[in-house]
Amino acid sequence: MEDVRLLMLPGPVPLPERVCQAMMRQAINHRGPEFGAAYTESVAVLKECFGTENEVFILSGSGTAGMDAAISNFGKGKKIASLVNGKFGDRLYQIAARNGDATEIASEWGTPVDLAALEEALENGAEMVTMVHNETSAGILNPAKEVGRLARKHDALFVMDGVTSVGGDEVLVDEWGVDVAIVGSQKCLAAPAGLAAVTVSDRAWDRIVEDRPFYLDLAACRKSAHKEPMQTPYTPAVPLFLGLHEALMMIKEEGMEARVARHRRMSASVRAAVAAWGLEMFPQLDEHSAYSNTVTAVRMPEGVADVGGRVKQMGIEIAGGQDHLKGKIFRIGSMGAVSAPEILATLAAVQHALRKAGVAGVGDGVEAAAEVLNP
Ligand code: PLP
Repeated sequence: MEDVRLLMLPGPVPLPERVCQAMMRQAINHRGPEFGAAYTESVAVLKECFGTENEVFILSGSGTAGMDAAISNFGKGKKIASLVNGKFGDRLYQIAARNGDATEIASEWGTPVDLAALEEALENGAEMVTMVHNETSAGILNPAKEVGRLARKHDALFVMDGVTSVGGDEVLVDEWGVDVAIVGSQKCLAAPAGLAAVTVSDRAWDRIVEDRPFYLDLAACRKSAHKEPMQTPYTPAVPLFLGLHEALMMIKEEGMEARVARHRRMSASVRAAVAAWGLEMFPQLDEHSAYSNTVTAVRMPEGVADVGGRVKQMGIEIAGGQDHLKGKIFRIGSMGAVSAPEILATLAAVQHALRKAGVAGVGDGVEAAAEVLNP
């Protein structure tokens, strides 16, 4: 059996003990006051995470269910422009293609999204834009504010996947003009896997389609959410809801500002280690993009096929590249309840693995990271 003691993946992330405990209990009625109170309190914190006054709904289903709901409720039969610079941007495009007349605006994975091509698509009548804010597969943070501005200018809806940014990095749904944003539970929120949350603007409600899915009908979600006590249309994954509720109470206690600052400090320390090792960051940035503050993607050094395998032998799991990036990059997650000891242990294991693999001139990344964490 594998003896992984520490998950340093870009989700799922380790669960705080309190979150585990919250799920370990007898069943409750999902139409009763206790569930309703947990849902209501959860939504209040999620609004802070999303930076919105819009309503938020929690769906039983992983992040992809949220993506599916966003596009099928508001984009069915419409002209959709999908910005793609990684695996999850591509997933949004595929969902868009099943639902409407979708155009892929492709950039190489890990390179900036093409804003000029987006503007052209909008001028040609695109009614919806899809983009991943934090593209997990490539470790790049895409320009949500800029895309929101373009979408508004051309009166299109903006669907943003915030699956690995919401609850970890700054997300300002209302300020940026995001119409539908999505988060997954097992990422920055440090909750169990299996739930998604979506937020919906008034502009989006005005354009909701008639031909909606049954299970992921957001109008039905809204109707049930307006009941007293607050509810979901069908039986939700109650234990996961209770786990998410506890995770959100922890976010409330920490405060969003402090949480974002912590995520930024942790990822800055990982980037400092990468620089000290003499390795190259994978994303290629322009003035509109940035390195992710929740996952660091690093180009695999010349002649090395795998770093994660040896790291795993030391009880820590990091991520490799997905699809065509397999063997080309490795990724270190730094999201959720992540703290300095976990970062330092992970970086020590990666440094050891790099040296064992014979990479020349690997400097002291652990020391460089410690300087960032404890200047
Ligand atoms: N979007 C992004 C940016 C992700 O990182 C992921 C998962 O890694 C997803 C969507 C899909 O989420 P899930 O696996 O929870 O369906």
